[in-house]
Amino acid sequence: MRNITIDSTSPFLSVIIPCYNEEQVLLESYTRLSQVMQANFQNYELIFINDGSCDRTLSILKKLALEDKCLKILSFSRNFGHQPAVSAGIKNCSGDLAIILDADLQDPPELIPDMVNLYQNSACNVVYAVRKRRAGETFFKKFTARLFYRTINKLSEVNLPLDTGDFRLIDRKVINAFNQLPERNKYIRGLISWVGFKQVPFVYSRNERFAGTTKYPLWKMIKFARTSLLYFSHKPLQIASSLGVVSVAIALLLLLWVIYNNIFLPQSLVQGWSSTIIVVMFFGGIQMLTIGILGEYLSNVFDEIKKRPEYIIDEKLNLGNEIRQDMVYDAYPN
Ligand code: UDP
Ligand code: MG
Repeated sequence: MRNITIDSTSPFLSVIIPCYNEEQVLLESYTRLSQVMQANFQNYELIFINDGSCDRTLSILKKLALEDKCLKILSFSRNFGHQPAVSAGIKNCSGDLAIILDADLQDPPELIPDMVNLYQNSACNVVYAVRKRRAGETFFKKFTARLFYRTINKLSEVNLPLDTGDFRLIDRKVINAFNQLPERNKYIRGLISWVGFKQVPFVYSRNERFAGTTKYPLWKMIKFARTSLLYFSHKPLQIASSLGVVSVAIALLLLLWVIYNNIFLPQSLVQGWSSTIIVVMFFGGIQMLTIGILGEYLSNVFDEIKKRPEYIIDEKLNLGNEIRQDMVYDAYPN
């Protein structure tokens, strides 16, 4: 385990940037990021994780890495997803502090010095960025995000800060604690809250994506919400059992009603096949729902016991091995 050697004037800073098909923004992100870093910090590294992009992301990164040894690359063998990419960055960074940042400049790199200042002045371990405003995002995205963070907080066993993404600064204590967590399906912002330590908010306005389109389509958002819900809450299971109790109670009441009718109003029982269907569908539905929720948890257990790695690294560059000219080629030329 690495010792914490924070020099109060110049900590070694790692910036972790997951990238999936970001050829349109990379150059701009790198330029703005390295300007900020050069102007403010003596020691830093930029770890770009190429999450199986099928555009020129990797070759652009490699060209930049030839010129700048602070730029380090982890390249996945395929697209494993944003969370595994960030997780790989946290595992492979060697800074005293690490900052997680999106590649699309929605999280402005110019805020990094302020976050480091806040970290140093408040003697905390995590500075998490809270979105005050979200420019250029659709009503649907903002609405579902709002709903998501509020629902997960109601259901979750740990208190997750509202309206935060993965844009945050974490120190070595948190990095080491995070790296010890064994689960494969990681919901990073939840886990960082879960590890504890002193965490302070940093309010900012989220910018529009600089170029390109979102790499989080609806199905990825649903998958993400599913992981966060199932890994951070047992409430869906409790809701399922409550539904079961309620439906059994209703069934018993109906039974009493049928017995009563049978004795006192036998003629009323002839009609009503539709109500029978409704009852059958209702209870059938509740059973399916309950079994479905159980199945979701079971599939997570199954994922975990398979013990497959979270991601597979194809190439590591400037991380222990220096990149050479012959390693730079374009796997996806236009
Ligand atoms: N990303 C990734 N793998 C994926 C999807 C996204 O590494 O499978 C990266 C992406 O390149 C970006 C960050 O995760 O740096 C956030 O993605 P995006 O900006 O598309 O999401 P949004 O801001 O629209 O929610
Ligand atoms: Mg974005």
